[in-house]
Amino acid sequence: MQIVKTRKELKKLLASWKAAGEELGVVMTMGALHAGHLGLVEAASKDNDKVIATIFINPKQFDNKNDLASYPIDTDEDLRKLKQAGVDAVYLPQAGEMYPEGYSTTVSVAAMQDCLCGATRPGHMDGVTTVVTKLLIQISPDRAYFGQKDFQQYLLIQRVVRDLDLPVDIIGVPTYREEGRLAMSSRNRRLNEAQRKIAPTLFQVQNTIRDLVLQGESVDHVLEWGEKVILEAGFDKIDYLELRSEENLTLISETATREAVMGSRIFVAAWLGTTRLIDNLSISR
Ligand code: AMP
Repeated sequence: MQIVKTRKELKKLLASWKAAGEELGVVMTMGALHAGHLGLVEAASKDNDKVIATIFINPKQFDNKNDLASYPIDTDEDLRKLKQAGVDAVYLPQAGEMYPEGYSTTVSVAAMQDCLCGATRPGHMDGVTTVVTKLLIQISPDRAYFGQKDFQQYLLIQRVVRDLDLPVDIIGVPTYREEGRLAMSSRNRRLNEAQRKIAPTLFQVQNTIRDLVLQGESVDHVLEWGEKVILEAGFDKIDYLELRSEENLTLISETATREAVMGSRIFVAAWLGTTRLIDNLSISR
């Protein structure tokens, strides 16, 4: 497995692969890797001749300084896992390589930003779409793999690629879950034992909401019930618990048609102490 740290080294490596006609898949991460990340690598390995992973803790997507300062870092272990998973190369750029002195451009999607994490984490989504666009341009892969755990991010990246005519296929990979069905996340490492016991409530509540909505129960009542259960379980705060369209994140309310409800997803973000967890679940699948 090759490790490249600069754009120059990256360019050289990619040129050799392109010359050999290799199809390339990329998995972008912020490190602290878990089985969910490795699931993206597995999907990329199936579709492509070569797989490159990136590890970059992107300062532009952190709206909270403490979250950035306490973001877990375990690069040696990450590299070991990526090697074992059969990744061909890892790109580890430094912040100065991505955002040199005087950097001043933001890639911002005007749609689907004013809700969910876009509403509760100012600047976060612009930080994500900016860094992903830069990495897509630097790497020019045939396919890029993103987890549906970050569903809003996945939709926004699809929109960037469509709007800017970037020649890459964006592939969404379903959420990997721990035992107890808690969505895997690098931030789960920050949970203490008591919080770990509470965290799976997020999945259980979404699952029950899905069942109740499919049975025709009132969407508003079911979501109200869900909020109550999440807080009673021990979560400190809920940023959102909502039903939205899987296509464009339009809010699905009480009066929505059955068809709209069937094409929707439950989205949740809630805090356990200083750790914010997110998850989502499709109503129909
Ligand atoms: P992160 O390192 O958290 O920025 O995530 C890097 C990529 O891994 C993103 O495309 C995430 O959506 C994806 N990812 C993170 N957690 C999971 C998970 N539990 N299941 C599937 N994909 C995930």
